[in-house]
Amino acid sequence: MDGDDGVLEAPYRLEYTYTRSTGPVIGRFLGALRAGTLEGVRTADGGVMVPPLEYDTTGAATGEAVAVGPGGVVTTWAWVNEPRKEHPLAKPFAWALVKLDGASTAMLHAVDAGDLAAMKTGMRVAPRWRAERTGSVRDLECFVPETPFALSEAQRAGSKGEGAPEPVPLFPSPVALDYTVTAGHHLSTYLRAMKEKRIVGGRCPACQKVYLPPRGACPTCGVPADAVVDVADRGIVTTFCVIRIPFDAAPFPPPYIAVAVILEGADLPLFHLLRGIPPEEARMGMRVRAVWAPDEELGPTLASIKWFEPTGEPDADTAEIERHL
Ligand SMILES: [Zn+2]
Repeated sequence: MDGDDGVLEAPYRLEYTYTRSTGPVIGRFLGALRAGTLEGVRTADGGVMVPPLEYDTTGAATGEAVAVGPGGVVTTWAWVNEPRKEHPLAKPFAWALVKLDGASTAMLHAVDAGDLAAMKTGMRVAPRWRAERTGSVRDLECFVPETPFALSEAQRAGSKGEGAPEPVPLFPSPVALDYTVTAGHHLSTYLRAMKEKRIVGGRCPACQKVYLPPRGACPTCGVPADAVVDVADRGIVTTFCVIRIPFDAAPFPPPYIAVAVILEGADLPLFHLLRGIPPEEARMGMRVRAVWAPDEELGPTLASIKWFEPTGEPDADTAEIERHL
C-alpha cells in the first residue's frame, strides 16, 4: 500500500512456534488443567505455590502437588477495554491476580466480570473451563464472579479427573510479532518498477557501481547514489543453495534452488529462486532470465518475478563473476 509520502508500506508478521518441554512439575500442572482441576506445589516453608515451579523464591526445591481452588480471590487487577485478537476474551475483561483457595501465591489470568463496575479487589471468582481441553493454560478460559452455579460448573468439569493427572510433556508455544514495514523512497522506486516488469538499480556517481536494490548512498564512497538506472532481467548465477529441508513457508516442496544472480548492468546480486532444471544441474556461471508473473499478478513486490530459469546459453567464465563473489 502507499503511505502518505509516496513510500510503500506493507504489513508484516514475524512468526515462529516453539515446542517447549515442560518438565515434571509444570507438565503435571498442565495435565491437571486438561483434567479441569487446579494444582499448586508445596514449598519448603509449607506454603503452596500456584502456578507451580520446580524451585521456590529461596531456591529450595518444591515438593508434592497440592489441589487448590476451584474458587479464589482477586488480589489486584487491570481492566482491558479494547481486547486484542490474541487476548483470551473478545469483550472487555480484566487481567487479575487470583489467589486460589489453599494457595499462598496468586496466579495471573483473565476475569470475565461482564462490566468494569463489577470488578473489585477481594471479589471471589471461580474458573470457567473450556469444553475441549488440550493441556494448556488456555484450558482455563477465564475466571468469572463466583456464584453457586459457577462453582458447581467448575467442580463438574474436574469431577472426571481421578488420581494424579497425566503430565503434558511438550506444548507448542507460538511467538508472533505484527508490524508495518516502510520501504523508504529508494526501495519504493525499486518495487514500483517491478510492477512494470522493470528492474532498477541506483548508480554511484563516484565509483559507478550499480546497487540493487538502490540505496540512498554508496557505502564505499559515502556519496548519494540515487541515479536510477534500468538493469536487465537476465544475468549469471554467482552462488546457489539447494533447499532440501521442508518448512512451513517454503515456496515449493523441496528440493528447490535458491540463487544469487548478478543481473547485466548491476553490481550486487539479486536473490531469487531458480526452476526449470534438476537441483544437481545448478552451477555457478549459469546464465538465467527472470520469469515474470502474468500481467494481472504484477505488483510492487519481488514476487512479480516468479523465479529465474536457465537461458540455455553457454555458461559465463568464472572470471566474469569473481568480483561479485
Ligand atoms: Zn561509490
